[in-house]
Amino acid sequence: MPVKNVTVRVPAKVNLQLSVGPREDDGFHNLVTVFQAISIFDDVTVTFAKENSGVSISIIGEHVHGVPADESNLAFKAIELMAKEYDLEIDVHVEIKKSIPVAGGMAGGSADAAAAIVAIDYLYSLGMSREEMSEIAAQIGSDVPFMLSGGTAIGTGHGDQLTAALSRGTYHWVLALSSVGLSTPAVYGECDRLRAESEITQPQTNESLMQALLAADPKAVGLCLVNDLQAAACSLRPALRLVLEVGHEYGALGALVSGSGPTVAFLVADEEAGLDLAVALTASGVVGSVARASGPVAGAKILN
Ligand code: ATP
Repeated sequence: MPVKNVTVRVPAKVNLQLSVGPREDDGFHNLVTVFQAISIFDDVTVTFAKENSGVSISIIGEHVHGVPADESNLAFKAIELMAKEYDLEIDVHVEIKKSIPVAGGMAGGSADAAAAIVAIDYLYSLGMSREEMSEIAAQIGSDVPFMLSGGTAIGTGHGDQLTAALSRGTYHWVLALSSVGLSTPAVYGECDRLRAESEITQPQTNESLMQALLAADPKAVGLCLVNDLQAAACSLRPALRLVLEVGHEYGALGALVSGSGPTVAFLVADEEAGLDLAVALTASGVVGSVARASGPVAGAKILN
């Protein structure tokens, strides 16, 4: 029997380090970031459709609000690019089961694009190498290559040039979610505005963080968490400062706004500490909802 469909599971990410260089002439910023893939997943099921029907998308699951079911969906863009690159007529239905918060700084859209690349490669028997997948991924967005590989990695350039990071151990996270997202370009714009009078140097990898990851030392990792976009996210969403304070007060080893926010990620010692902090955050009334996760986990992979 020919294969009719495939489901690809893809994780969310947090940035343990997000260092942002000065705004370049092309409007972009050089970054040094350390990504960790964590155990909140979207499942993307791609099914062959009738000839000449093109690509259709449906969204189901916990986080459907704000996710486009048209050509602006990043999974659609990935498929369009692959059709062009491999000269294919692609007729499929894509069902995205979303558990990754939308516009939360956790790369949900990028994750779905990575999943679509893996699914189309499988369904159309393209036999793509990891490098070929990464090349397509980087054309969609700078977080997409990492969502293919997962694990822990250092991203340079716009965050898309990846080197695997040596990391040992499992890290436990509590995530404070907001019901309303933040726009990534707006957060970068605010970051530029806040730093307009400062001299900004080119970003560097945080060696203390790399040592702490190698040593499987969550306490030391907690002390090294850094995000240059945090001040901007808090400036646009002042309530995030309160969320960060509550987490510190209730024993988080470290806390930071994830990517461009507004999700706040708290690193905790173990699962039990995570449960305690989740309860405290919920009871505080300053957080919309709370999720727990651990990392690192693998990138986009086929489920069936
Ligand atoms: P990043 O961390 O990569 O900056 P994010 O996690 O903050 O991204 P996403 O969840 O990727 O944000 O969504 C940002 C916007 O992208 C959404 O508001 C939505 O309009 C659009 N979008 C396009 N495709 C998707 C998708 N598959 N899932 C979610 N949002 C998508």
